[in-house]
Amino acid sequence: MRSHDVGDESRKFYVVREEEIKAGKVVDVYFIRTMEALRHLGLENTRVVAEIAARSLPRSRRGGRFEWGVLAGVEEVAKLLEGREVDLYSLPDGSIFEPGLPIMRIEGPYSEFGPLETSILGFLCSLSGVATVAAHVKVAAGGKPVVNFGIRRNHPAISLAIERASLIGGLDGSSGILIEEIGFKPMGTMPHALIIIAGDQVKAWKAFDAAVPEEVPRIALVDTFCDEKTEAIKAAEALGERLQGVRLDTPSSRRGDMEEIIREVRWELDVRGYKHVKIFVSGGLDEVSVERLARAGADAFGVGSRICGADPVDFGMDVVEVEGVPRAKRGIKSGAKDVFRCPECLRYFVVRKGAEAPTCPDCGVRTELAYVKFLEGGRIVTEFPSVAELRERTLSQLKKMGLLHPTR
Ligand SMILES: [Zn+2]
Repeated sequence: MRSHDVGDESRKFYVVREEEIKAGKVVDVYFIRTMEALRHLGLENTRVVAEIAARSLPRSRRGGRFEWGVLAGVEEVAKLLEGREVDLYSLPDGSIFEPGLPIMRIEGPYSEFGPLETSILGFLCSLSGVATVAAHVKVAAGGKPVVNFGIRRNHPAISLAIERASLIGGLDGSSGILIEEIGFKPMGTMPHALIIIAGDQVKAWKAFDAAVPEEVPRIALVDTFCDEKTEAIKAAEALGERLQGVRLDTPSSRRGDMEEIIREVRWELDVRGYKHVKIFVSGGLDEVSVERLARAGADAFGVGSRICGADPVDFGMDVVEVEGVPRAKRGIKSGAKDVFRCPECLRYFVVRKGAEAPTCPDCGVRTELAYVKFLEGGRIVTEFPSVAELRERTLSQLKKMGLLHPTR
């Protein structure tokens, strides 16, 4: 047996199983060494308070970094820590947060959660990165529908987790069929392959209309053999009232000027009386192009790589209190903290744990504790909202921040 074959023969795709994550197998070895050294000192069960905050947020395609993010992965962290002797306080999933804000506080013997830091951060960094970019794309679309078409960009083992995070970020749907498990209908139109194999666009669109269930929107892909304008008219003539939309999938096509193509397709559909036909755009989109194309008249967007390939949020975990005494590394404020939030302007206020709720100086109202207690002694003490509720939480904050119109 070669050395790299040592281990689990059943690991066909080299995927870590959920029970292995739960058992702490996804861990940087230096935490194992830390535990060995702490045990040597008899300090492995020292009671500590650790806090998690983002150092910075991912880069925006507009330049610079995003100023706010959307939190995701908290439910996973709570389930990871369930059964450990810890108390867990956190902003809930779907919270808009800023870099530097302590979004989570964990209390308990270090041995109970220290070695899980790798996986705790992994959940939060990866999923919050996806939710954050999803929300920024949704805002860029001016609230118009945005669907996640990008699960092909991820390792399949995490596709559902990534889709879920994109929905928490406010997206309107996703394309993978497993999302039915979390209460959403998968969304999708048709690939070029269908039209190429059928050999003729009209034949393909009509077959689609005849074959797929009635509740599936009839959205014809219109850029396979001819230009978008010609095929959009053909599709409208072929399906008439039954056609709900046309999809243009080549924003960086040879002709290049996608905004002009959208205006032209809209015009040609309108003058023929097909005002009901929506224009759906996909293919290499990001927050910059979505904003431009939404202004040009596109009605909905399929976004893939930009969301599923989102940079992680660089959350870090820091010990801030040891046996009840404030103690932290340089650059980190010591002592356990509480986070309050103004219900009016949504501003956060960080205070010493146990301090009274501050009054918002701008709104003059009493702030509310932003932390939710998720675990007490390792027992889950809150209910996890549905993905639809988390999505609504994100969207309602974006509306309150003036980033989305209240109608959507
Ligand atoms: Zn306020």
